Amino acid sequence: MSSAPTPDSQLPGAEDEASAFTDLGLRAELLNALSALGYEEPTPIQREAIPPLLAGRDLLGQAATGTGKTAAFALPLLQRMPEGRTGGDPVALVLVPTRELAVQVSEAFHRYGKDLGARVLPIYGGQPIGRQLRALDLGVDVVVATPGRALDHIARGTLRLGELATVVLDEADEMLDMGFAEDIEAILEHAPAQRQTVLFSATMPSRIDGMARQHLSDPVRIQIGREQPVAGETPRVRQSAYIVARAHKPAALGRVLDVESPTAAIVFCRSREEVDRLTETMNGRGYRAEALHGGMSQEQRDRVMGRLRAGTADLLVATDVAARGLDVEQLTHVVNYDVPSAPESYVHRIGRVGRAGREGVAITLAEPREHRMLKTIERVTGQRIAIDKIPTVADLRTRRLELTQAALRESLLEDDLDPFRVIVESLSDEFDLMEVALAAVKLAHEATLPGSADDGEEEIPQVAVRPQREARPGYEGRGGDRRPGGRPRSAGTTQVFIGLGRRAGVRPQDLVGAITGETGINGRDIGSIEIADRFSLVEVPSAVADEVIAGLRGSTIKGRRTTVRRDRDRP
Ligand code: AMP
Repeated sequence: MSSAPTPDSQLPGAEDEASAFTDLGLRAELLNALSALGYEEPTPIQREAIPPLLAGRDLLGQAATGTGKTAAFALPLLQRMPEGRTGGDPVALVLVPTRELAVQVSEAFHRYGKDLGARVLPIYGGQPIGRQLRALDLGVDVVVATPGRALDHIARGTLRLGELATVVLDEADEMLDMGFAEDIEAILEHAPAQRQTVLFSATMPSRIDGMARQHLSDPVRIQIGREQPVAGETPRVRQSAYIVARAHKPAALGRVLDVESPTAAIVFCRSREEVDRLTETMNGRGYRAEALHGGMSQEQRDRVMGRLRAGTADLLVATDVAARGLDVEQLTHVVNYDVPSAPESYVHRIGRVGRAGREGVAITLAEPREHRMLKTIERVTGQRIAIDKIPTVADLRTRRLELTQAALRESLLEDDLDPFRVIVESLSDEFDLMEVALAAVKLAHEATLPGSADDGEEEIPQVAVRPQREARPGYEGRGGDRRPGGRPRSAGTTQVFIGLGRRAGVRPQDLVGAITGETGINGRDIGSIEIADRFSLVEVPSAVADEVIAGLRGSTIKGRRTTVRRDRDRP
């Protein structure tokens, strides 16, 4: 375990910071875990949510993925956990919409609570129930569950809620969208009336408000991105974003930098760990990158800044804390390696470029789930962030040729070519002038852009952005065909036939629940649902049709196994 975290007040450039983790009242074990993870300061939602949650208050938070909301509820929950429990029923239940999130959230609990010995169990559909039964039997402190599977366990008597002190509804709007409203109500009925209830949602439609009114008692309300920056505060820079899976981020960053060819760029990361890791990766890929974070001494930081100013480094990888107050004239590009945790932080970061009439560029790499945070930032800044396609290998090749062409044009204009005339003249006896020029260009291209032979370059998969949630009149969760007022019928879908229909009591929510529970796909990716008397038809993206069919064949709907097959494909 590493040493206790350095208070931000001791970090250069952080003197003006409002609060550090140490000011929030968190215990040493948690502070140590945060320090080991390289978190330098709380995000705005953490700053606002942790103290009231520690005091046992209910909380209604509007915050999307990327704001640090998981730690905002996980840290207080871990701190409030009674010490030295062995066996026993859970003291906290976190409900999440998908199995992917169940795994992510329980991993976060493990990371933060490892020194406290917290026993955290994710339970979700699709995982063998036997393993979950054994773990529940041994005793757990925190259960992170999808509503359907949680209800299953409650009905079996294997998940007992009698000792719950806290219930968290995470991504509540998404859970309602997926039709989990009834399941959530049923679960909350089993929880003790005297409990802390926390609700996080990226949007606050009236149904969420109603839910909060019914289940939360005098909650603290927190909203990220509520404040409007003063007009003119947001710098005028070209802003764009790329949606990219985490695993492809280093490659995407390299590709974007190659195409943009900045004079100097600053890449913002969330934690020290990430700064160190990314600096190493980028150096390995041939960039001249330097790390800058709060764990470095003033002397080390000065050395880094010196190298950037002297042009011996062209990429600065930094945390917010370390970069506060920096003014580097050479900077042309700001890159957000992750979506910043609040719009204010985005405005701050991009303010590093585009000063004094110079053109600046701000680029954000967002994971698919963080797409909504981009929308929040756009709303607050009143400026558009264009979602661009990650440059392809062909784009990169074209760009590199353009750079060579520009260099050649410059050289032609410089008029210092005479010493080379003799070479061209003697070669021209033997070869066509065009051929000579081509060979010279090739040599110049390879010499000015080492590594420009792009043999090793692979295409980076483009990730589709999920459609924004829209007000859909008359839309009642998964309880209805979502076609009217829903998304337009999309290309590349497959209709899946399921041999159970209305007569078997099948409702749309049963089908959505079964599909999302048994596969990795999101409720929102499911298209139209038609329920006939004896069968149902569900539209899913063709790319996941096989997964859906296999998942449904291996599970039950309304307690019954049935025929599941591909009905028809729509190109
Ligand atoms: P979330 O919005 O909860 O999905 O968190 C987004 C990401 O931010 C996760 O990868 C966290 O590990 C990370 N994170 C959360 N809080 C902080 C913090 N205070 N400093 C650095 N990274 C953080």
